[in-house]
Amino acid sequence: MKTIVVATKNKGKLKEIKEIFKDMPYNFVSMEEMGIDVEIDEDADTFLGNATKKATEIMKLCGEITMADDSGLCVDALNGAPGVYSARYSNTGNDLDNNLLLLKNMEGVENRAAHFTCAMVVAFPDGKIISHEGEFHGTIDFEMKGTGGFGYDCLFYLPEYNKTSAQITAEEKNSISHRAMALKGIKEKLEGIK
Ligand code: IMP
Repeated sequence: MKTIVVATKNKGKLKEIKEIFKDMPYNFVSMEEMGIDVEIDEDADTFLGNATKKATEIMKLCGEITMADDSGLCVDALNGAPGVYSARYSNTGNDLDNNLLLLKNMEGVENRAAHFTCAMVVAFPDGKIISHEGEFHGTIDFEMKGTGGFGYDCLFYLPEYNKTSAQITAEEKNSISHRAMALKGIKEKLEGIK
């Protein structure tokens, strides 16, 4: 059984990864379990660039295969913003202020199309890198709805559910989200190099 270190402090992400990979011969451990507590500066201008930087730097610190992701919301009418700045869109960077700023910037905008992107990267100690990007499409609602999820979920409207992604269940979101799509792609690629 090979170990894969997951470069996140988010326990929800680790749980989701373990669930998707449960039939594969990998043991997923958190950075905390490896005794690693560092902040990697996410200063790349793409999701893939940030995820690759995180996976590579943590892999070098622990010497184990390392998986990292970077994700965010891209709004068509805002030329892809907030994009890689999703977590720090407003001055405070808290979810409520980020959502209020997004609503303000979308005032009077007809084209509400948006998607979440997740870049997932696995860095191996021999220098090999595998990556996969997943997308999750919806539109930006006119008001915040729902209490589930996090980040921009309360404004991310899913026409096929007639709900925002903060109003669907965690199980529903985990089966269709950008992160789920990226993880499924990584799973196929890992199976290919087994
Ligand atoms: P991270 O790279 O997963 O930490 O995501 C960066 C930022 O993108 C978060 O702080 C959220 O603002 C936003 N984001 C990423 N994924 C989601 C999601 O599934 N729902 C809502 N917001 C998200």
